[in-house]
Amino acid sequence: MLEVLRNIVQEVNAAESLDEALDIIVDRVRVAMGTEVCSVYMAEPGGERLVFCATQGLNAEQVGVASLASGQGLVGLVAEREEPVNLENAESHPSFQFLPGIGEEPFHAFLGVPIIHQRDVLGVLVIQQKERRRFDESEEAFLVTLSAQLAGVIAHARVTGAIGAELAGGGPGPAAKVSGIAGAPGIGIGEAVVVSPVADMYAVPRKIVKNRRGELRAFKHALEKVRHDIRQVSENLLDELSSEDHALFDVYLGILDDSTIGGEVASRIKAGNWAQGALSEVMIEHIRHFERMEHSYLRERAVDVKDLGTRVLAYLQADEKEVRSYPAKTILVGEELTASALGEIPREKLAGLISVRGSGNSHVAILARAMGVPTVMGAVDLPYTRLQNLELVVDGYNGVVHLNPLPEIRERFLELVDQDLAITRDLESLRDLPCETLDGYRLPLWVNTGLMADVTRSLEQGAEGVGLYRTEIPFLLRERFPSEEEQRQIYRNQLEAFAPRPVTMRTLDIGGDKALPYFPIEEDNPFLGWRGIRVTLDHPEIFLSQVRAMLKANAGLDNLRIMLPMISNVAEVDEAIELIKRSHREIQQEGIATELPPIGVMVEVPAAVYQARALARRVDFLSVGSNDLTQYLLAVDRNNARVADLYHAYHPAVLRALADVASAAKAENTAVSICGELAGDPLAAVLLMAMDYDVLSMNATSLPRVKKALRAITRDDASRLLKQVMSMDDSHAIQKVLEQDLSQRGLQQFIHNPVH
Ligand code: PEP
Ligand code: MG
Repeated sequence: MLEVLRNIVQEVNAAESLDEALDIIVDRVRVAMGTEVCSVYMAEPGGERLVFCATQGLNAEQVGVASLASGQGLVGLVAEREEPVNLENAESHPSFQFLPGIGEEPFHAFLGVPIIHQRDVLGVLVIQQKERRRFDESEEAFLVTLSAQLAGVIAHARVTGAIGAELAGGGPGPAAKVSGIAGAPGIGIGEAVVVSPVADMYAVPRKIVKNRRGELRAFKHALEKVRHDIRQVSENLLDELSSEDHALFDVYLGILDDSTIGGEVASRIKAGNWAQGALSEVMIEHIRHFERMEHSYLRERAVDVKDLGTRVLAYLQADEKEVRSYPAKTILVGEELTASALGEIPREKLAGLISVRGSGNSHVAILARAMGVPTVMGAVDLPYTRLQNLELVVDGYNGVVHLNPLPEIRERFLELVDQDLAITRDLESLRDLPCETLDGYRLPLWVNTGLMADVTRSLEQGAEGVGLYRTEIPFLLRERFPSEEEQRQIYRNQLEAFAPRPVTMRTLDIGGDKALPYFPIEEDNPFLGWRGIRVTLDHPEIFLSQVRAMLKANAGLDNLRIMLPMISNVAEVDEAIELIKRSHREIQQEGIATELPPIGVMVEVPAAVYQARALARRVDFLSVGSNDLTQYLLAVDRNNARVADLYHAYHPAVLRALADVASAAKAENTAVSICGELAGDPLAAVLLMAMDYDVLSMNATSLPRVKKALRAITRDDASRLLKQVMSMDDSHAIQKVLEQDLSQRGLQQFIHNPVH
């Protein structure tokens, strides 16, 4: 049964449109279940009616015509109750409603299951039979399983269908929209450029090209390189393999010949498909064909085809990269965008970002906020490989992507862009004003940095220091660990740019969702695994060279602070401090006069909250990493779109922890700051000030908004607000109270914040 299930899902997945997907479903399910009828009813947008959308066994002429009001009939009942209805004789049920013309009179047995995607009822899947019998438990369970699996695929097909006309090359297709998660605020309007993971045949964007000869040449060129590689491998193994084994290499090479797969790819290119698209389509068809073979030897060939396809694709992509150019307003779209993908495109051309995976606190979203690039994360239903060159609107406030926007929608968003510009101009006037409450309390606002571009932006926004310099970012943009001297220069640039303002450099924080391409960490549970200080204490050579580079860069400036990430016990702190002191001694012995900088610890693991006093005694400052602290306290992966609704930084447990860390630090006379994204939220900033945080560190884009909010309140009012929310037990209610407060102070336009 599992095999049947898998095959149906795979076939539906490959459908070009929703209608095609539904036709495949009704056809395959009817056969798999051995019933006489299988139909699908889909909910109209808005959920008013359930439309008879596909059938095998009933009157197909009524498809798209017949419909039921929601809650009407047995199908309506299934949708309303969100659970299966299984009846021996449908007509005798009180909810039965005769739907004229569809021809269901002869069928008595009825089993309907809801199709639910992300809590929304998309439709109802029904099987029917003449015989009066109740479908048995295993049949019901199978249909429920199938429907649960198909829900995501159907949601996907809905969007794919909506943009189908464009894909067929028939001019601008109909408008469609897909919801995701707000990643970075702002509106981006531009042209999609799809970045696909390297050599993944299943993620190749669709593209029609005019220069067919060029594509054909590129394909032949890539083929030649792969042939050469394989011959090379074969020659290298000459002494180790028998001649029979060697013959296998010839078979392998034969797959790519003109008379076989190679020829098929070439003819699709001649028909207008680009080389990567033609290759992946042909290869995937052959892989599917081989995978369905009875004989295990032939099934194994699917692996060979896949391997060859991947090799050819890798060469095609390498060539493409050399000549890639970006439109003036590029919306970068990818399955899982990374920091390095951002690094490849000139900032002035980047109008927006869309990532199918990831969530509001993924590192790429944090970078996007810092760069001020409107971003939607977790757009799981987006058929992203098909969007190349399509016009898109990225609504980074609400986490929505509009495809092929209608003129009136585009107009509305252009107005929003103008409003944003007006707000930004208004905020610019704050640049040289202090962050001071109405009653004269000063709270320093610092910035989080990582990219060189952050420096100018931060200084333009009036940053008073750097509360978090993410050193892993320059590491991510390279192909090997930077040498000590390379690091020294990078750090020196940061320190010099901000001097005499303090710069807090965090030691390398890799792991989790930050993998270095040249130091991959493969783990089942990366956020609970080898991350941050755990990696660097296990690799003192990496830690020491980084600390030495920082200390050397600090010579003559003395504005460096060193911060340790992912601390979960005091031993890690003791050990790290020991290593820092050792490096400092060595450097002094080398004749470089430099001070031992202040050392701090990040509080981002619940254990550190409970040990905050013990940690505070050991260091010069604590800094809360609220991004990780929230994910660990609430057990919500910050990167997972499915649970993004549960990632709530105003959760009473998070607020309690934040308040406790601040008091623990104060009790030990240790400075305390916060450098998670929460600090950049004007609503939260008011609470953090009342909790007695000494410094708020945030991305540069948020700084003026936070300043505006804090300059509009007194410290007493902030304390009263804090007291009120600390007595509440629901995060949504807390958010409402905070929003109302900000609105009352005339600052409602600053409420949007993607962190919540
Ligand atoms: C945090 O966890 O809040 C933090 C500032 O660090 P990062 O987002 O880089 O994990
Ligand atoms: Mg962190």
